Amino acid sequence: MSTNHPEVEPRRDHDWIMARVEEFKATGETEPRVARDPINQPMINNWLEAIGETDPRYKDGIAPPAMAQVWTMYGLDPTRPANDPLHGTMQMFDEAGFHSVLGTNCDQTYARDVRVGETVSITTRLESVVGPKVTGVGEGYFVTTLNTWWVGHGDDREAVATMLFRVLKFKPAKRAAKVDKTQLVRPQMNQDTEYFWQGTAIGELRIQKCNACGELRHPPGPMCPTCHAHDRGYVVASGKGTVFSFIVHHAPQLPGKELPVTLALIELEEGLRMIGEVQGNRDQIAIGAPVEVAFEKIDDDLTLAQWSVVA
Ligand code: ZN
Repeated sequence: MSTNHPEVEPRRDHDWIMARVEEFKATGETEPRVARDPINQPMINNWLEAIGETDPRYKDGIAPPAMAQVWTMYGLDPTRPANDPLHGTMQMFDEAGFHSVLGTNCDQTYARDVRVGETVSITTRLESVVGPKVTGVGEGYFVTTLNTWWVGHGDDREAVATMLFRVLKFKPAKRAAKVDKTQLVRPQMNQDTEYFWQGTAIGELRIQKCNACGELRHPPGPMCPTCHAHDRGYVVASGKGTVFSFIVHHAPQLPGKELPVTLALIELEEGLRMIGEVQGNRDQIAIGAPVEVAFEKIDDDLTLAQWSVVA
């Protein structure tokens, strides 16, 4: 009997993954990739409008530091440089069966302002891969890359900003036969937000109010952004509003939720906007559709404000 076997595919197991990770790490930092355009005021103006930033410095040639990533974004062309470690690592995990991805952390640091007319370039390296870890969405690996933005070339180049970017590359967990609502990701509760959750528990949708100037605000915070007073209370909202925008979330699986889930930005009658889940008939959901709040008790510690379209 012959002992010759056809060439078999390597087992894409943990050891195979970590060996590939070491290869990616060993390639170190990529060659600088130069931004498509120099830093320019029209792009800054678009960003300021989208974010709602009004600091006058950014109308006068200084780019908002948080725009760092904007300048070197890939366009619509889906091709990536062969040595891009994030792209390469993602492909490797796809081959190993970890097809889903979830952004988890993004930490930026800024060394100095950049100005209109300067051209930045970006380098990237694979910082770390940690796993396998069992998470609420499934088993996976945390992949961290370090991006650095530079001005200038060679020995004269100057790092202006960095970004540690972490994603979870995972295999979605098998769906439980019956969803246990109490397993949902709990909202953060602290002294700034407890009035809200005390309200939902008794069927009230509460909006934070500045006791000094009377301004309403949401999400809640410790200080009035208008008059800087700390004295805060709340009013009870009518619970009526309209859909300002919405998404239908199909994947990845969310603990305690049956998918798909419709998440909307609700424009309240009181003039503020609040994010919430819209339940019921998905076909009725449209931008501008009138909605009404209802309260869903999850357990003794949590009652959620949920929305449904008013027929
Ligand atoms: Zn105020």
